[in-house]
Amino acid sequence: MIQKNSVMRRCISCRNTYDRKNLLKITKDHKLGIIFQTGMGRSAYICKSKKCYSDSKIKKKLQKALKTYLEPNFIDIFEKEISSFNYFPNKGI
Ligand SMILES: [Zn+2]
Repeated sequence: MIQKNSVMRRCISCRNTYDRKNLLKITKDHKLGIIFQTGMGRSAYICKSKKCYSDSKIKKKLQKALKTYLEPNFIDIFEKEISSFNYFPNKGI
């Protein structure tokens, strides 16, 4: 069943499509540079499966998707975003 209001986006790692609410959005904002969940510009989405966000090639995939160079510290920021984003009550930690 497809809900009318859900926006589907593709995870750049596993290539499955998910509801946007369940994806981490990474945007290359025109003014702000690389930002998460918001912003205007070229965007990529990553799902919350560990396989995808902890993919060793994720930075390369993002660079390709966003057509930009990501700073070496990007992964640190990304991991922080993922850990706060990944907090869901049903996760059972
Ligand atoms: Zn994925």
